[in-house]
Amino acid sequence: MAKQRGLPLDESEKRKLSKKNLAKLSGIFRFALPYKGYFIAGMIFLFLSSLMLLTFPFVAGKLIDAASGEEWVINDINGIAFILLGILLVQSIFSFFRVWLFAQVSERSMKDIRVALYEHLVRLPMTFFDQRRTGELISRITSDVSLLQDTFSITLAELLRQVITLLVGIAFLFYSTPRLTLFMLITIPLLVIIAMVFGRFIRKLSKTTQDELAAANVVVEETLQSIVTVKSFTGEAYESNRYRFRLDRVVEVALKAAKFRGAFISFIIFALFGGIVAVIWYGATLVSAGEMSIGDLVSFVLYTTFIGGSIAGLGDIYGQVQKAIGSSERVLEILEEAAEERKSGAEVQKVAGSIRFKQVVFHYPTRPEYRVLDGIDFSIGPGEKVALAGHSGAGKSTIIQLLLKFYALGQGDILLDGQSIRHWDPQQLRQNIGIVPQEVLLFGGSIRENILYARPGATEKEIIAAATQANAWEFIQRFPDGLDTLVGERGIKLSGGQRQRIAIARAILKDPAILILDEATSSLDAASEALVQEALDKLMKGRTTIIIAHRLATIRKVDRIYVLKSGKIIEEGNHEELSALSNGHYAHLVNLQFADDLSRPSD
Ligand code: ADP
Repeated sequence: MAKQRGLPLDESEKRKLSKKNLAKLSGIFRFALPYKGYFIAGMIFLFLSSLMLLTFPFVAGKLIDAASGEEWVINDINGIAFILLGILLVQSIFSFFRVWLFAQVSERSMKDIRVALYEHLVRLPMTFFDQRRTGELISRITSDVSLLQDTFSITLAELLRQVITLLVGIAFLFYSTPRLTLFMLITIPLLVIIAMVFGRFIRKLSKTTQDELAAANVVVEETLQSIVTVKSFTGEAYESNRYRFRLDRVVEVALKAAKFRGAFISFIIFALFGGIVAVIWYGATLVSAGEMSIGDLVSFVLYTTFIGGSIAGLGDIYGQVQKAIGSSERVLEILEEAAEERKSGAEVQKVAGSIRFKQVVFHYPTRPEYRVLDGIDFSIGPGEKVALAGHSGAGKSTIIQLLLKFYALGQGDILLDGQSIRHWDPQQLRQNIGIVPQEVLLFGGSIRENILYARPGATEKEIIAAATQANAWEFIQRFPDGLDTLVGERGIKLSGGQRQRIAIARAILKDPAILILDEATSSLDAASEALVQEALDKLMKGRTTIIIAHRLATIRKVDRIYVLKSGKIIEEGNHEELSALSNGHYAHLVNLQFADDLSRPSD
């Protein structure tokens, strides 16, 4: 991403170079520690190649002096030219190793950071994901880490190189021509710094121009997207005016920027090159007074350009380091986030499947003022089937999330086989619970991989048995690639009913004591529905089942229905009992929600 250097830095991404902030950067450096051998070797090569390059102007000066007959250790023009070539050759070999060694460090340590981030990320509790947007998290793994990679591979090396150039260059000049050096140091660095500040300002202006242009493009995009609306409201003239107005702004800002850009270029031509002219002029007077040779003047001017360049380079690096601190801050923030608890060592415990909610009161951490569950109390025996009914937002899914230990319990308790789930390791607990979700999302990969997700060690026979029970084997078999058929974004698209049956096969393979069915709200076609229903019936057999019910067909079969409203259970009983309650919430829901089902002849 070297090409990004020099772009205007987003102010919000920069951090001050304080001690505390530098400590953050060092927090990231621990990832480079395993590769410190490469790093040190790279630094040595860098050091050597920087020193080597610094001898170049000196020897070049001697070459010119040799032409005018000045005495040096070697007076032969060809000999000195060969030395120069030799310097370049050694320098290029050093540079190769420097780049290669730093790449070793940056590539490997960035991989380690990415893996550490990802491993940690997927282990974070649900509350973390509630508070973050996916895009933001992805950008931490991608852009933030890439920026750190630049820091490890380019920025640090550049920093060292520029500092060496600056210090050694100036020291050498002071030693050889002190008066001219003093003269140079009070002109050139100041001019370079002014040029840099000016340059930054101009880049900021051109970013404003780009922003204005983007705003203008939004008008075009919006209009074209809603062309029907624009035409039907005869808004053509209005939209054209809006666009013209936006473009006027672009021109205004761009012209302002152009004024400064022009001034900048004039400044560079006049002041910066003027500074160089001044140095050469002063040098020339020294030469004519016999205090300095022409070759020394040439090497002096070359050193001066080196020094000017490294002052400019350091300014750039300063910005890069500030940005890198911002990135490491964001990366470390995730790494320091507390992961879900893990209780190590314990064997996976199989449960019989009795569940008891004891006066559970709950609010999501992100919304502390809002009680989502308000004293939920029920128990389900092993193998029993219950349904949760209620309007959307009543708290049905929250009950499931708590059972899965996605969130820490507040008041009350949840017992599994009589034991509080507070003491359970979340992963072991989830091993005992199978879920068939409302919307089945399959991972990109084969059908086999998707079914195996439940139990990676399962045999071919077990997979086929599970698929058969789930009424999925028949359609899987019909694909030319069978179980190896690719699904997901790059594979074939399965129908809703087919995906449901894959999810059922997955759950069968997992063979959990407890099953959660989140029924799809949108209905499948009748044939598919029957196949899914039959598969579900098989899956539910002998398992404690909680259904978030949307279908009358399932709800009629359950042992008990809990009717939820605003986080409370307000009615409980079977379908007949609850339907018979006049003015009952369930009876009302049935009329409302299941009207479609009721009108179906099959029900
Ligand atoms: P149901 O499943 O019955 O539709 P939910 O349990 O999903 O209801 O939601 C109950 C209430 O909790 C709703 O008001 C919903 O907005 C809120 N809620 C659900 N999930 C979260 C969450 N992760 N963070 C904050 N509030 C949530």
